[in-house]
Amino acid sequence: MPTLKPKLAMYWAASCGGCEIALANINEALLEVDAYFDFMFCPCLLDTKRADIEALPDGAIFLTLFNGALRTEENLEMAELLRRKSQLFVAFGACAASGGIPALANQHGIGHVLETVFRSSASVDNAAGPIPGGSSPVPGGELELPAFLQRVLAVHEAVTVDYTMPGCPPEPEQIVAVIRHVASGNPLPENGTLLGCTARAVCDQCGREKRGSLAARLARPFEAVPEAGWCLAEQGFPCIGTATHGGCGALCPAVAMPCTGCYGALDRNADPGAAALSALAAVVDPGESGGKAEADIHARLRSALAGVADPLGTFYRYNLAATVVADRSPEVEP
Ligand code: SF4
Ligand code: SF4
Repeated sequence: MPTLKPKLAMYWAASCGGCEIALANINEALLEVDAYFDFMFCPCLLDTKRADIEALPDGAIFLTLFNGALRTEENLEMAELLRRKSQLFVAFGACAASGGIPALANQHGIGHVLETVFRSSASVDNAAGPIPGGSSPVPGGELELPAFLQRVLAVHEAVTVDYTMPGCPPEPEQIVAVIRHVASGNPLPENGTLLGCTARAVCDQCGREKRGSLAARLARPFEAVPEAGWCLAEQGFPCIGTATHGGCGALCPAVAMPCTGCYGALDRNADPGAAALSALAAVVDPGESGGKAEADIHARLRSALAGVADPLGTFYRYNLAATVVADRSPEVEP
């Protein structure tokens, strides 16, 4: 007899699998998921095939949690397919929401990315072998690998997204809260709402004290041991909790690791990289002149940048796909 439970799908595109692990980490609450939903598609866990999804009527899936960025044509096709088949489509995790780590590749031209990753990197032995985007003879037959898109896309750049759950990955208790809300039948929030995070900064959940002091310079986490209980940013570590949505429980600063911004920029209208840089520049000592003059501001920014080994990877770590710098010409062409 066919199940009457609403169908739940989870899909990974360009992802690391951490978002699936986050779902598995809801532990016994998985029984609630099973009680309410027909969890019918999840390539990591279930053997449902793409053809099974294609055979469903449009809108047959109640809720799809789509994680991972769009790197390949197959990722894009699956996003379009699942969007069509789903009533609610959620960009789940930082990669889906804003490109995540995969989108850092967008600073390079696609030819350079393919050549580096599939041919010339030290751990690859494939000097003249296949790269994604064609058919290649392999022992036992032909291997077809999906072509890469010219640049990594956040999911909302390709299909309409109803809700976004930020995080790298979203925290299990936030996943449980969202699933319980859906299962309760209570009205859903307005389309476009961020789910599973707070409207306040990570600092709001952080146990470290802000003392109002300024750091002489920024340093990488391995360069010094931070003092317990004191704000990492004020100690000169690049913690961007001030500019980042809370909801994670400030887990990273709790173990002396600076917040890297995975829950997304607090100000959705601001450029996230600029907001992160601005947050750090605000804790750098401007010197003796008071810090208000334009020259002092420039000095702060220079000082903040000087202590950060990888500015793009620090300030745009999770969101290079969908920002004002996303469409600029890649630095390195093939
Ligand atoms: S958001 Fe984080 S955990 Fe999820 S797929 Fe991307 S890198 Fe992995
Ligand atoms: S900047 Fe970082 S360490 Fe400081 S209070 Fe905010 S989250 Fe905590």
